[in-house]
Amino acid sequence: MTTLPPTSARLRRPHVKVRQARRAQRKEQRHLTDQIMQAGAAAAAAAQAAAGLTKAGLTDAELQAWRHDLEARLDHIQQHPEQNLGFIEEQLALAAKEPLRLLAQRAAQAKANATPCQCPACQTGLMNQKYLARRIDSRFGPLVVFRRYGWCRQCETWHFPADHALGLGKNAPASPYLQEMTALLVSKMPPEQAVLVAQRMGLQLSRCTLDREAHRQGLKGESAG
Ligand SMILES: [Zn+2]
Repeated sequence: MTTLPPTSARLRRPHVKVRQARRAQRKEQRHLTDQIMQAGAAAAAAAQAAAGLTKAGLTDAELQAWRHDLEARLDHIQQHPEQNLGFIEEQLALAAKEPLRLLAQRAAQAKANATPCQCPACQTGLMNQKYLARRIDSRFGPLVVFRRYGWCRQCETWHFPADHALGLGKNAPASPYLQEMTALLVSKMPPEQAVLVAQRMGLQLSRCTLDREAHRQGLKGESAG
């Protein structure tokens, strides 16, 4: 005979491990909700800050951080007398990247904000306007730019006038400079080599972008030939 406790006693409270697991799950859910709320609030704050931007610049704190970083790099260069000029070039190029990325992002944002939300073809104001962020791969790294878009009744299309003004492709994240570099590189070498050359030049060109450009050039070559 097994001696199980009466059924009512067994059902009254779940096992301690089950209770612990449920508590952990509730805690995790609360944590996730907090995270989502915070991310939502941060995105709303970023959108609001972007919408108010009229001119690119760096804050005093950012300029100071740049200066500190630069001084640390110059010290580092000083501590390596065995290295040649190549090392100095690399260090200094790295020092400039983040401030230039911030400035590029803000200058692009100011340009997007100054672009009227009207149809590039019909020049009429767009309907049902909305605000949306997009990611751009630039020579200084990834940028995020918010821009207005809306519906043109005559063209019956959604238009993003700021993307047009900034020279951005519809479905490709590459900036005009990266578009140009991509086209140049794949006109001279296969995409798998172009990835390595781009990396050495400090450009993050994705294999996907290079493949797509190689394909596009191939199609252009076929139609021309
Ligand atoms: Zn139109």
